[in-house]
Amino acid sequence: MTARCTVCGRRWIVAAEQAKPGYICPDCAVRARLEKSGIIKKERRNQSENP
Ligand SMILES: [Zn+2]
Repeated sequence: MTARCTVCGRRWIVAAEQAKPGYICPDCAVRARLEKSGIIKKERRNQSENP
C-alpha cells in the first residue's frame, strides 16, 4: 500500500504497518538526520549558486 510522506508529500509504497499518520519517507528521514547533525544546512543553497 502507499503512504504519503508528511515532509515532502510524495507517495511511497510501504508495508501496511508503516502506512500510518506521520509517515516520513526514507529520503526525508536521512535528510532530517543529516540536518540535525549539521552535515547539511536547511534548504539554503537554493538560488545562490545558479549560473
Ligand atoms: Zn519525504
